[in-house]
Amino acid sequence: MSLVLNNLVKRFGPVTALDGISFEVERGQVFGFLGANGAGKTTTMRIILDILRPDSGTATWAGTPTTDVPRRTWGYLPEERGLYPRLEVLEQLVFFASLYAISRKDAAARARDWLARFRIPEYEKRRAEELSKGNQQKVQLIAAILHEPDVLIMDEPFVGLDPVNVSLLKEAFGEMRKRGTTLIFSTHQMEMVEELCEAVVLIDRGKLVLGGPILDVKRSSGRQVVRLGVEGDAELPWLADLEGVSIVRAGVDYTELDVRGRDPQDILAAALARGERVTQFLIADPSIEQIFIERVGRPPSEDHHLATAAAPAAPTVAAR
Ligand code: ATP
Repeated sequence: MSLVLNNLVKRFGPVTALDGISFEVERGQVFGFLGANGAGKTTTMRIILDILRPDSGTATWAGTPTTDVPRRTWGYLPEERGLYPRLEVLEQLVFFASLYAISRKDAAARARDWLARFRIPEYEKRRAEELSKGNQQKVQLIAAILHEPDVLIMDEPFVGLDPVNVSLLKEAFGEMRKRGTTLIFSTHQMEMVEELCEAVVLIDRGKLVLGGPILDVKRSSGRQVVRLGVEGDAELPWLADLEGVSIVRAGVDYTELDVRGRDPQDILAAALARGERVTQFLIADPSIEQIFIERVGRPPSEDHHLATAAAPAAPTVAAR
């Protein structure tokens, strides 16, 4: 049982937003959807949710075309944040749940449970516009999950949250994962990917650049990162003579090296052979950030803003 995207193509006039995107998300996975601005992430999400139709290609969930999958399968935190500004928080949540035929009683109970988990139970009778942006975002996320979707799709869920709320959201991820929810989210924050995701795809200009389980993605880069620290002078000019080794960073305590197609142990052996007294030696996979930069040619930017929450009554559920 999985979400399968096969050769999705979507054009907007002269712009090819998606140019043959294919990938698969396993049920229950925490899945990171990466790409620079304009890569095509939001477009892909909208196609999965059947808010947009592709020009060609297919999207299926458990073998059923997503156009025929019941709407309650999905939860969606869109990039454009927006609640009904004048509606009280609990009323708002009950309303969104009612779109999925959840009774008022059940919706209110679930809403209160989530408001407590997100440490904002005291806001249930406040109008949305009275809440801070971060708190509105939490309410909007609750609106997306009250009907207990199988798959929760989130566009930049961590943007605009302070560290305390980031950690509450991570806890909520853990809770939803325990319940078997598939979590798909886009982010420019690679540390979130490292910490949370089991698998990722990276798209660039509408094309898939890489994808798969995180460890496979790291290993298939064919690179390893080595940190070497020695006593005394940190300058290690002999490193430059080693083939397949480049210096990424020459720090005070250690030098960080990018090693390709070569056994990292050679570096340790070379250091010892030169009589260096080694104080640190660490072999690691490259970070997702390093892989992103290498494959896309620029770092994942973070120039995202929260849309104003006082936006016109924007429904937070996928309209169909
Ligand atoms: P970001 O990280 O900035 O949110 P993204 O990866 O979500 O970017 P998309 O929003 O999917 O990217 O956009 C992909 C491309 O398609 C961009 O060039 C964008 O300008 C274009 N595009 C998206 N939606 C539309 C639309 N409705 N009309 C015209 N062009 C569009």
